[in-house]
Amino acid sequence: MSAPVLTAVAWPYANGPRHIGHVSGFGVPSDVFSRYMRMSGHRVLMVSGTDEHGTPILVQAEKEGLTTRQLVDKYNRVIAEDLQGLGLSYDLFTRTTTGNHYQVVQDLFLALWRNGYVQSKTQMGAISPSTGRTLPDRYIEGTCPICGYDGARGDQCDNCGNQLDPVDLKNPRSRINGEVPKFIETEHLFLDLPSFTESLGSWLSTRTEWRPNVLKFSQNLIEDLRPRPITRDLDWGIPVPLDGWRDAPMKRFYVWFDAVIGYLSASVEWARRTGDADAWKEFWTDPAQAYYFMGKDNIVFHSLIWPSLLLGQNGAGDKGGTPGRFDTLNLPTEVVSSEFLTMSGSKFSTSRGTVIYVGDFLKEFGPDALRYFISAAGPENQDTDFTWDEFVRRTNFELANEWGNLVNRSVSMAHKNVGAVPAPTAPTAADAELKALAKAAFTSVGDNLRRSRFKAAVSEAMRVVGAANKYLSDEEPWKRKDDPARRDTILHTALQVVSDANTLLTPFLPHSAQKVHELLGGKGVWAAQPEIRQVDDLDDPSISYPVLTGDYAGEQASWESVDIEVGKPLEKPEPLFTKLDPKLGETGPEWAPIA
Ligand SMILES: [Zn+2]
Repeated sequence: MSAPVLTAVAWPYANGPRHIGHVSGFGVPSDVFSRYMRMSGHRVLMVSGTDEHGTPILVQAEKEGLTTRQLVDKYNRVIAEDLQGLGLSYDLFTRTTTGNHYQVVQDLFLALWRNGYVQSKTQMGAISPSTGRTLPDRYIEGTCPICGYDGARGDQCDNCGNQLDPVDLKNPRSRINGEVPKFIETEHLFLDLPSFTESLGSWLSTRTEWRPNVLKFSQNLIEDLRPRPITRDLDWGIPVPLDGWRDAPMKRFYVWFDAVIGYLSASVEWARRTGDADAWKEFWTDPAQAYYFMGKDNIVFHSLIWPSLLLGQNGAGDKGGTPGRFDTLNLPTEVVSSEFLTMSGSKFSTSRGTVIYVGDFLKEFGPDALRYFISAAGPENQDTDFTWDEFVRRTNFELANEWGNLVNRSVSMAHKNVGAVPAPTAPTAADAELKALAKAAFTSVGDNLRRSRFKAAVSEAMRVVGAANKYLSDEEPWKRKDDPARRDTILHTALQVVSDANTLLTPFLPHSAQKVHELLGGKGVWAAQPEIRQVDDLDDPSISYPVLTGDYAGEQASWESVDIEVGKPLEKPEPLFTKLDPKLGETGPEWAPIA
C-alpha cells in the first residue's frame, strides 16, 4: 500500500516576479518528485501559494505606486502564471491573503497559546528615525555578533546561519536608506523555541535519510534556540486573536509565522474545495509522508521552526498540552533543500542586475529545456553557476541530439517503412540486452527520485537513451532493406525503449513526454498539466482570485514499462526540441545579454 504524500513547496514572496534561481530551489525539484510519486501509485497533495504579508510588500507597493492589495494581486497572478507555464503540478497553489488562511493561522496560534508555548514580552524594536515607521529585522544590516560577518541581517546571519536579534548587530544600519535605526520598547508575542529543544533533538536523530548538510545544519542550531518573536508592529498582516491584540491596528503576526502555516492552510483550502472538508487529514497523519522543498536560506524554518509549531499544536513540547483543532499533525518526513543557482558566481539578485525572470525564459525557450537544465545541472548539492553556454550545450547535445534524435529517427523509420509499430521476430541478444537495461532503469531511476537525487536520476534515464542510440548505430536498420524482418525487429526494439525512456523522463519533461506519447500513437492525457482557475474566496464570496490546480488523477503515465502495441499507426514525427543557436552561449539572449 502506497502511503499518501504531502509535497509542501516553499511559498514564493509576492513582491515581484520570480527568477530562475527561485524555481530551481523550490519549483522544479518538487514537481519532478510529485510527478514521480503519482506515477508510482501514491496519492499526492502538492500545495503552496504566494507569501503576501510583511514589510517588503509595503515597500514595493510604495515603489510601484500601488496599494498593498493591488501589488499582491498583481504578483500573485504573475507568479501563478509562471509556475503554470513551467508545468508545476500543484493540487493547489493559493495565497496567504485568503479568509481560510487567516482562520487556520489564528486557530493554530490559539493551540500554541493554550498549551503555553507563546509568551508576551517587551522588547526593543527598531524604527526609522526619519519616517517613524517600524524597521523590520531584515531591513537592518550590520556585523554578526557571532561570526563577525559584515553583511548579517537583523533576523539571520547568512554566513553562520544563526538567528539574530537586530539589537545585537554591531554597527547596525538601515538597508533602505543607510541611517542608524532607533530602538524603542514595544510588546510582542514570542514562540518559546527552547521548550522544543528536546523533542526536536530526538526527532532529528531519527532523520537519518536527510541530506547530510541539512541535518547537520539543523542539529547545530538546536542548542542555541531562543524565543522568537511571532508578532510585528505593522498594519499589513493577520491580526492576533487575543483580547487587547485583536483590534490593535499596528500588531500583526510576523510574516514568517503566517507563511509557514500556509502548508496546512493550503491543504485545508484544497480539501474544502473538493467538497470533503476533512480530506486534508489523510496527508497530515500517519502513514502519510511529508516532503518539504526549498532553497537553503529557508532550511531553519522547515527543519526547526515549523516542526516546533507543529509540536506545540500537538501538545508535544516540554510543556505538554493537548492537540488543537487540527488533532495530531505529522512532522516533516524530509526537508529537501537546494543550494543556490548563481550567475557569474554571485547569488541571483534583482538588486545586482543579474536576474533572469522565469516568464522571459519560458517565452523564449519553453518549459522542458529549463526543467531539464535544473534537473541535470542545477544546484542540488552545491552552489552552481548558471551560464548560457551550459544551457545551450545541455539543450542541443542532450535534449535535441540525444533524446530528440532517438525519438525522431525511431518513429520516422517505422513510419516510412511500415506506417505503424512493426512486429518483432526472433530477437537477438542485443535486442534483449537493451530492453532489459531500460526495464532495470525503472528501479534505479525510481530509487533516486524517491530520495530526491535528481541529477543521478536524470543521468540514469539518459544512459538508457545513450544505449538506444548506440544500439541503432550498431544495428543500422536503415541498411536492412533486404531483411525487413530483422529491420522491423530492430525498430520494434527501438520504439519499445523510446516508450520506456519516455516514461522515465516524464517527471522531468512532462510537456515533451505528452508529445512522445502521441508520436507513438497514444491518445489522451499522458502527463497532466496544471491550469489557472478563478475562484471565489471560501469565506468571502465578494473576493475572487486565481489558483493553480489540475486534474492529475486522469493521467495515463505510470511508473512501469508498458509493451508497445504492434500495428498502432505512426505519423511522420515533428522534431521534439528546437536546437539553439550556439552563439547564444556567447552572447545570451537580447533580454539578458552577457555583460
Ligand atoms: Zn554570523
